[in-house]
Amino acid sequence: MEILQDYSIEQLRDLLAEYGEKPFRAGQIFRGLAAGKKISELTELSLSLRAKLKERFADEAVRIVGKKISSVDGTVKFLFALWDGNVIEGVLMRYKYGNTQCVSTQVGCRMGCAFCASGIGGLVRNLTAGEIASEIYAVNRYLGGTTEKRQVTNVVMMGSGEPLDNYENSVRFLRLISAKDGLNVSPRNVSLSTCGIVPAIDRLSEEGLDVNLTVSLHNPFDERRRELMPIAKKYGVSEILDACSRYFQKTGRRYIFEYSLVKGQNDGRECADELIRLLKGRPCHVNLIRLNAVKEKNLEATSDKDAYRFLGLLERGGLSATVRRQIGVDIDGACGQLRRKFLNGEVEFEGQDR
Ligand code: SAH
Repeated sequence: MEILQDYSIEQLRDLLAEYGEKPFRAGQIFRGLAAGKKISELTELSLSLRAKLKERFADEAVRIVGKKISSVDGTVKFLFALWDGNVIEGVLMRYKYGNTQCVSTQVGCRMGCAFCASGIGGLVRNLTAGEIASEIYAVNRYLGGTTEKRQVTNVVMMGSGEPLDNYENSVRFLRLISAKDGLNVSPRNVSLSTCGIVPAIDRLSEEGLDVNLTVSLHNPFDERRRELMPIAKKYGVSEILDACSRYFQKTGRRYIFEYSLVKGQNDGRECADELIRLLKGRPCHVNLIRLNAVKEKNLEATSDKDAYRFLGLLERGGLSATVRRQIGVDIDGACGQLRRKFLNGEVEFEGQDR
């Protein structure tokens, strides 16, 4: 099956010409799908056109099959079923200024980071651009949003998967959700998080998209970073920093480093000092995340007290840094946790076979 949400309005026009339909239908289809409708719900189209489309395209690309709502902060974790039966997850975080949705870009992941649940079963498949966009279409609809009045205002590509390992679809996704006829979410309101695939960062800087670049650093020393992130064997910290500088030169966008604090691994003074040495004076920000301990992994989170002590070291060293508000701890908030539990049979959702 193909995914109709992969099509831009221009491509829909060409498709409709094949079917002998009027070009204005393209806008109707694009807007309807962006509002979270299934093909069979596009009632402005004739039944015969809908039937033709459904022969070739998945009627419902992405469906919400379960959710967990945090009693602490209202964060919602979604489990989605794809049209082919694969499952992925996403998170909706509620802030004063709007709603931020975290999307998955792959089913599983092949990066194999030591602390992360998404990589445990390896990569199953890439998501298409339209499937990634459909995660947002579905949640926007769930929140009562439309294309005119969207409820999802910001997006982070920080769910399961490595966006730059699924480069074309990730970039296409950014173009789809920023389409004026669709949800019109500007790339400036989107953060793309990568484990640090240097050539892909360079390629991204040439796309003319003002997407915010976030890089998962987790350790400033290459040798230690390799223990947490296998990709570090390929790209060292200094190469990553150079790529970030080039990204800044091209786009004028400040970049962010993610730093998940693991007890006894990367929360000591020597790491803080090295971060200061490497990052001072750069147009960047450091986001400290307290590790969300994953059952399958033998790693412990840094305590709150030590996280703030580490923050103090960075700030005194002249870096811009924050400890990220811990969200969704009671709902398997970290990458891949809910999907993992679902596949292990530890949580059940209505009407879903594993
Ligand atoms: N593949 C991309 C995006 C997905 S992960 C990347 O590597 O950046 C988003 C962020 O969450 C990354 O910084 C990742 O390292 C971090 N992360 C994953 N699992 C985590 C966990 N259990 N606790 C804390 N942070 C985690």
